[in-house]
Amino acid sequence: MKEPVTAMYSCPYCGREFEVETYQSINAEEEDLRDRCVSGDLFRVSCPHCKKEYMIQYPFVYLDRKHKFVLWISDREVPASVRSISDPLHLQGYRFRRVPALKELPEKIQIFEDELDDRLVELAKYDCFIEFVDNKKGNPEDITSIEYQRTENQVMKINVRTGDRGMAFLIPVNMVEEEMMQDIERYEVDNRSFPVVNTEWIIDLFRESSGQA
Ligand SMILES: [Zn+2]
Repeated sequence: MKEPVTAMYSCPYCGREFEVETYQSINAEEEDLRDRCVSGDLFRVSCPHCKKEYMIQYPFVYLDRKHKFVLWISDREVPASVRSISDPLHLQGYRFRRVPALKELPEKIQIFEDELDDRLVELAKYDCFIEFVDNKKGNPEDITSIEYQRTENQVMKINVRTGDRGMAFLIPVNMVEEEMMQDIERYEVDNRSFPVVNTEWIIDLFRESSGQA
């Protein structure tokens, strides 16, 4: 495990610089780091000049050997250096994903720690959205987020949030598996290229197939 690297960061509020600790890679075996990653504490900073508190995002690799996945957290494509560490792991059945935004990271870690296929979870979240709208449980524009929470006894719990209210949906894993199997090619991703599998990904899939692309 590499030590954190100290970097200069300029505050977007006051424009002055201060030192921050950044990580090039995070190993899930270091539980404290894993927890601070999921809680977001690792990225929370406080500007010593103007005292504003906020989160900073920088590119890094998240590696989990137990659950066999590698995440590249960045809004940019994966660099050759990261690709080269992933090559030997591919043969061991690892999954590779790019996570464009820090806010998507805790959910992605949770999904893979639960040993689920993230494409399946995105489909389940999409189904929840459709059900929410079709059954007029609220206005689609009021939805602030759709979050995967956990899986118990092969049933996924997904929360559709509208502001400070949440509505829980319970979705059996095998139901969504069947749905995915009916059109499996549509959901194919190129694992080795660190694909992005998130809400935008699933929305794009359905938009393309309905000819609105
Ligand atoms: Zn500042």
